[in-house]
Amino acid sequence: MSFDLEENRLKDEIAKRKPKTVLLQLPEGLKPAAPRLASIVQEAGALPIVSSDPCYGACDLAVSAAKILGADLIVHYGHTPMIPNVDVPTLYIEVRAHVSVKEAVTNALQYLESWKKIGLITTVQHIHQLDETKRLLENAGKTVFVGDAGKQKYAGQVLGCDFSNAKAVSDDVEVFLFVGGGRFHAIGAALATEKPTVIADPYEQIAYPVHEQVRRILMQRWGNISAAKVAKNFGVLVILKSGQMRLQRAIIIKEKLEKQGLKATLLALREVTPSALMQFSGVDAFVNTACPRLSLDDSPNFGKPLLSINETLVLLGEMKWEELLKNGWFENAT
Ligand code: SF4
Repeated sequence: MSFDLEENRLKDEIAKRKPKTVLLQLPEGLKPAAPRLASIVQEAGALPIVSSDPCYGACDLAVSAAKILGADLIVHYGHTPMIPNVDVPTLYIEVRAHVSVKEAVTNALQYLESWKKIGLITTVQHIHQLDETKRLLENAGKTVFVGDAGKQKYAGQVLGCDFSNAKAVSDDVEVFLFVGGGRFHAIGAALATEKPTVIADPYEQIAYPVHEQVRRILMQRWGNISAAKVAKNFGVLVILKSGQMRLQRAIIIKEKLEKQGLKATLLALREVTPSALMQFSGVDAFVNTACPRLSLDDSPNFGKPLLSINETLVLLGEMKWEELLKNGWFENAT
């Protein structure tokens, strides 16, 4: 299995744009390719610098680093554009996966047996395989829906923080099939739409439903809100990443907490890790205003409640649990 890093395009773009310094930014799984890509940039006539901070999405475009380094081009791998009006020229290379989806999708059919209307979602790495997946499902007698709400570059594309394409067809479908690796996007889709969701993982060539994980996460999130009920001191996280910074929302949440006699401190940081939050021993609970992955994947590692904005509204009695389920788990309601 391999990914298309579009090395010829990279060379051509550098030759055409003639930047002096290029900042290369790659998601974690692609960082091993950094030295090879840097050589291509150098041979094309520019000085390559590799951003070595973690990068999980286009929300984290390395604009500040590019400015500090004087880079006149960012080459961002693995995602589609997310931040509008970026003032450093940026080349996005989306990185298609070269892996067959056939076996995983065929395996998924056993879990889709009792449904006819299927919503199809994926990440940008497999967007070129949606047509093939659709055909495989249609050949098995299914009717396939691919949503296009207009927020993402491609129909059917989802991000961990944006399931608008799933929601666009949610009323028409009985179940979603997510094509891609990992559970994060499929669980997010299930939470956002309240529909059963099945993963077809082409990397492992397996398929499985996520309802058991969703049930566990719902219990965990409810437990999180309950645990935060005794908290007196809150840390409201403001994330210093270009596409995750929601200072105004953080301020609103701080004011809402204070109105109810609780103490709230704004905490600005780039990477939210257990060791970073552990330093704030006087804080009883945290509010995450940024990436939902923190609350979905990492929450148990923090040792203290880490609430989303909507969960904080439930805690404060400004939103009902049922409304939270309906409005979207991790979407910001303020
Ligand atoms: S899910 Fe998180 S990392 Fe991915 S784009 Fe959204 S905020 Fe960024």
